[in-house]
Amino acid sequence: MTPTNLPKNPKIGAAQIRLLERLTNACSVSGDEGELRSIVLELVRPAVDEVRVDALGNVLATKRGQGEGRPKVLLVAHMDEVGFIITHDDNEGFFRFETVGGADVRYLAGKPVWVGKEHIPGIIGSKPIHLTTWEERRQPISVDSLRIDVGPGNGSKVKPGDRATFATSFTRLGPSLRAKALDDRLGVATLLELVTHAPQNIDLLAAFTVQEEVGLRGAGVAAYALDPDLAIVLDSTPAHDLPSWDGSENTRYDARLGAGPAIYVADRATLSDPRLVRHLVETAEKAGIPYQIRQPGGGGTDAGAVHRQRAGIPSVSVSVPARYNHTPAAICRLSDWKNTLALVYAALLGLDGKGWKVEGV
Ligand SMILES: [Zn+2]
Repeated sequence: MTPTNLPKNPKIGAAQIRLLERLTNACSVSGDEGELRSIVLELVRPAVDEVRVDALGNVLATKRGQGEGRPKVLLVAHMDEVGFIITHDDNEGFFRFETVGGADVRYLAGKPVWVGKEHIPGIIGSKPIHLTTWEERRQPISVDSLRIDVGPGNGSKVKPGDRATFATSFTRLGPSLRAKALDDRLGVATLLELVTHAPQNIDLLAAFTVQEEVGLRGAGVAAYALDPDLAIVLDSTPAHDLPSWDGSENTRYDARLGAGPAIYVADRATLSDPRLVRHLVETAEKAGIPYQIRQPGGGGTDAGAVHRQRAGIPSVSVSVPARYNHTPAAICRLSDWKNTLALVYAALLGLDGKGWKVEGV
């Protein structure tokens, strides 16, 4: 290789931010990830040795490195997002729907949505304040009492089974980015950058997974098929650096914006492999990359399914923190995204082919 055609280091600049915009504006609700998958395939195909789509819709790609004894490293990011599925046509452009994935029904009423592959604009209709009683305004609203309203003109274009998402367009806000589905388009964009600038010391196995938000359903079969030595899952974790509903200030943050990538030691579904946690922490400290340890507790990532495949796969997760995940608009810091990419890339460069089986007791 001459110096001019050496692979450049991955980075996040204007092109990558434009890509994140394209990814977040796409609709990819669990079980119907086709719109995102076609963008992923368009970008992955020219960069890898092999790529295929499995029966569930996962995109599985392999980029081989060079040299003896290199480890097979699986990187995972989920393509799906929480949203809605149309369940019944009530005529006149009104549709019943159910939520898909973890969505809080309290914030649905009155939100604009995009429905189906054509992004038909609609609204989750609810009574305006003029027509509600004081009693009604104190009660929670159930999904059964809500309808998605696309108007009679577009009603024939919407069918039961179609998915809908919040109609939120990507916006840059100074040091921050605001969009729907930053969970996990941040991971997808990071993984695309790593696949197109893959380090040579590893075989990079990439899984862009489906149905994470409904129970890590795609990642299990993806990890089984790719059969890696170890796995790193790229996701977005809820930042909690805001006052609680009860008005108190949080003193123990789950994760906060501006403090760097969140490294998982444990979550509801996984105990991270301690060697991989140590490797990430040491890499960050050596390279001067800020990081935070995500506090154990609720939530989980595709690692919960990945680590239990075959004879066990050492796994860890790294997340870009974002506020308000699973709501119409989340906010993250560009600096956290950049530092996440830098950390994962440096960590990959530092991996060798030593056995990843657990030895001794
Ligand atoms: Zn996620």
